[in-house]
Amino acid sequence: MEIRKSLIIAALLLLTGVIHLGSYSVDRPNIAIITLESTRADHLPCYGYHRDTMPNVCRVAQDGVTFENGYSSGAFTLPSISSMHTSKYPKELGTLSPGDTLPKNVSLLAESLKKEGYNTYGVVHTYHPTEKIGFSKGFDYYEDNNSIDSVQTVRKATNTINTSSEFFAWIHLVDPHQGYSAPENFSGTFAHQNSTVSADQTAKEFTRENLSEEEIQYIRDRYDEELLYADYAFGKFIKWLKDKEEYQDSLIIIVGDHGEDLMEHGHIGHGFSLRDVYTHVPFIVKFPENRYANTKVQKPVSLVDILPTIKDRVDIESSTFYRGTSLYEIIEGKSSRKGIITQMVGKNAFVTSKWKLIDQEKDLTLNSKGEHVLLNKSEKKLFNLDKDRLERKNLAEQKPEIVQYLQKRMYQRLERDLNNTYERIDPYGG
Ligand SMILES: [Zn+2]
Repeated sequence: MEIRKSLIIAALLLLTGVIHLGSYSVDRPNIAIITLESTRADHLPCYGYHRDTMPNVCRVAQDGVTFENGYSSGAFTLPSISSMHTSKYPKELGTLSPGDTLPKNVSLLAESLKKEGYNTYGVVHTYHPTEKIGFSKGFDYYEDNNSIDSVQTVRKATNTINTSSEFFAWIHLVDPHQGYSAPENFSGTFAHQNSTVSADQTAKEFTRENLSEEEIQYIRDRYDEELLYADYAFGKFIKWLKDKEEYQDSLIIIVGDHGEDLMEHGHIGHGFSLRDVYTHVPFIVKFPENRYANTKVQKPVSLVDILPTIKDRVDIESSTFYRGTSLYEIIEGKSSRKGIITQMVGKNAFVTSKWKLIDQEKDLTLNSKGEHVLLNKSEKKLFNLDKDRLERKNLAEQKPEIVQYLQKRMYQRLERDLNNTYERIDPYGG
């Protein structure tokens, strides 16, 4: 009798729309991660840039959440992408240097989604995330092709993805990588053609001494044209999703794999430090049903947060411990996390809503032959991101109590047993 009464009440509630079957109208959304190569947040109009470099990306941002303080896990592709697919830090994965490979026993996002019945597709222009390095695990279809540009990458993906059942797609758009040379229809949009720096030369290592202000601006203009081209390719992917009527209910994650120094800190390129030009990336999430549309979030987030977010929504099985926090928790103000971590060889950084601490044991520099060299150079750098986003003024000596607080927080998070070097550095036994 009681059961029958409950069923009648439930049926009435369903009819009146008071409760739904499950929390969402779409149980298992399609999931697309689009990684933008070498893309720094402050060169997008939806992050305040004066040029309309990525109109399609910023249009999708209106249907979702713009994380204004999104950070890559490292300063070049391998550490960042490996961290994104595992929700682990690059240092514990051993993916901090070119030539490193993913540990064989680590579980990747695509594997988890495959187990849940998703069809899985990866189309990436390859510099680092190759099958050889271990990134293809869990993908039904994986192409790491180093001869295709962003538009061709999207075309490959859309020609391959079967939308008749749930899919996970990871698409990496390569064009903004150093060697800024957008195709003909895009070249000349921002850059003056009479510069003394050729497009080929933008692929080379420069120091401030051998570039004039005009040349630096020309390089920045060429970089912006590459953003425009990658955005054009991205727009084709979104149009395809809309044409298939899959856009509204898909979870779409758009992130930069790392940023790019355009001579603000003495280099053209990436991988040199953990300052914002290298690590502050576009981080935009369009949730299924356009939940949280047109929302901006200030709390710092990281690529390690992507996997826990997907787990929250799809309920993938996992026995492993994620280093990230679900973005649902962040958006809804349920996370007490104080900051995020980003790493490179010899350096760890901790970023809060206001501060960045870079704890450096070694520094990467170029020698007179243009080779990368690691120097033993222990130093702490503290920046007030509210007032000094370009990180010009190191406040570490002026504010030792903040350095200590952030350092303690960071090494507690990193869990010193993951790496012996933490034991030596951490004075708090955290
Ligand atoms: Zn990259």
